[in-house]
Amino acid sequence: MKWQGRQGSSNVEDRRFNSGGGRRGGPGFKLGGGGLIIFAIIYLIMGGNPLNLIPMATNRTQTGPSYVETESDKEKMEFLSVVLKDTEDVWAEVFKEYNLEYKTTNLVVFHGSVNSACGTAQAAMGPFYCPLDKKIYMDLAFFDQLKNEFGAKGEFAIAYVLAHEVGHHVQDELGILGEKQQLRKQLSEKEYNKISVRIELQADYLAGVFASRIEDKGYLDIDDIDDAIRAAESVGDDILQKRYQGAVVPDAFTHGTADMRSRWFMKGYNTGNFDEFDTFKYKYDDL
Ligand SMILES: [Zn+2]
Repeated sequence: MKWQGRQGSSNVEDRRFNSGGGRRGGPGFKLGGGGLIIFAIIYLIMGGNPLNLIPMATNRTQTGPSYVETESDKEKMEFLSVVLKDTEDVWAEVFKEYNLEYKTTNLVVFHGSVNSACGTAQAAMGPFYCPLDKKIYMDLAFFDQLKNEFGAKGEFAIAYVLAHEVGHHVQDELGILGEKQQLRKQLSEKEYNKISVRIELQADYLAGVFASRIEDKGYLDIDDIDDAIRAAESVGDDILQKRYQGAVVPDAFTHGTADMRSRWFMKGYNTGNFDEFDTFKYKYDDL
């Protein structure tokens, strides 16, 4: 992606220096290193796993080494800022085409753990969107996690992840999240999981719309779309369940399979606007 030297967003909140202790690799570190106190639904890039493995006891009384910014982190901050600005321009443009007005979201960058209006979150959960404060949360460690643990390489893989979370904000602005969240009280977990899959595939579609629009602006490199597709596949429920549980349980899908996620990303990419984004109008098996 062509991002160097381009204007960044003014909506990045840098909380790396006042986040909770990172505890990465320190004594007492467990997979995930802590948990999330869920006060409200949050919208992650990946599904219930590996979250199920995260012990709820946290190490919050211990203090980790304070955060020191590396050159590489400085570059990651710049990259995220430019991508966020691109999402602001793209969604302002698309909303306008539908006679709507886009209100921006903030990206909170933290280190280790962070307090959101939806609860306290740990880096290991991956990036998420909290509808209560309308903010996206991301630890820079996710860059390496996506590459090394999920095998999704290329900087546009991260752009896809941020665009997916911004997609949740777009859904929120359109009133979709609030409407669907009501259903959570009425449905069984198994039934609600299917609603969740539709919400998540729609966020992937919106990430595809974003990719299409910035390609029109000349900001994409030749491999970027392939990197985004591979990233979407790498966080598919079937892939993550196989890895963390050893077996695939379709009833527990919350985000869709690798195949579904990459297809909905491509659908958004090929359409380039809201016209085909209604994941709720299809039979579940046709998604
Ligand atoms: Zn999501």
